[in-house]
Amino acid sequence: MKRSLFLTGLLSAAALSMSVAAYQQPPQPQPLEAQKVRDNFYMLVGGGGNTGVFIGANGVTVIDTKNPGYGTPILAKIKEITPKPVTIVINTHTHGDHVSGNVEFPATVDVVTQENTAANMKKMAPVTGLPQNGPPTNIFEQNGGRNLAKRTFKDRMTIGNGAERIELYYFGRAHTNGDAWIVFPALRLLQAGDAFAFKQPPIMDANNGGSGVDYPETLAKAYASIKNVDTIINGHMPAPTTPADLKEYEEYVRDFVTYAQNQKKAGKSVDDAAAGYKVPDRFKGYTAAAARVKPDVQVIYDEMDKKK
Ligand SMILES: [Zn+2]
Repeated sequence: MKRSLFLTGLLSAAALSMSVAAYQQPPQPQPLEAQKVRDNFYMLVGGGGNTGVFIGANGVTVIDTKNPGYGTPILAKIKEITPKPVTIVINTHTHGDHVSGNVEFPATVDVVTQENTAANMKKMAPVTGLPQNGPPTNIFEQNGGRNLAKRTFKDRMTIGNGAERIELYYFGRAHTNGDAWIVFPALRLLQAGDAFAFKQPPIMDANNGGSGVDYPETLAKAYASIKNVDTIINGHMPAPTTPADLKEYEEYVRDFVTYAQNQKKAGKSVDDAAAGYKVPDRFKGYTAAAARVKPDVQVIYDEMDKKK
């Protein structure tokens, strides 16, 4: 009798500790899909923003490191492709689905970002217009500042040379105030990050210095400045796009921002302007969720108020 009670107690304690463990465990990372874009460039899809993998003679450059928990799966996927070590990580911007895996990389990697992104990564402020699950967390603070930016640039930086040359550009505020545009000249390839994430209205993250009003001009500068590229890796689209898509995106965002500006000039509320928005027919394949349109309209209205 005593013994069975004891066993029951043990079993329920075990069950309890198991359920606590299950509750505390982060969800299992999804498998990553590696798409070969060039002989020495892969795009890893899944687990957050798209990750670029550029394989050089002596080391690998990784662009963006996805959500928390995806650093290790990224490193495992790269091992399937090449035995070379990761030597450089470039983050296109500060968002958690592009930088969080940094903390799982060796502390020896060189981390490169635009200078405003380096400052934003120290804060990891919540993203404008995205729902918050509980209080904001700062993954870098939780990991002793591991793999925050070690080198930064303002408008321009060149890494490497010859076939391994990488050109980094900053063209102004858009998705954030630190969006890096990364060009691989020998590959005729551009990685755009979330400045061009989807064929949708972009997140205009005012909390991290992003701008609605400036967004179209920044896209126009990128399109006009980046030459000799035929393939674009976007922030989240599952397949690469082209410069023609970037040009169309610039026109789409310009149309969207102009719509919001005209609504405000006509005295419409944010709610009414957002509710009345419809993607113009000429932008094929574009969608606009209400949950994205309204915070964007708000950001544009706020900027217009500030400029008065
Ligand atoms: Zn983003």
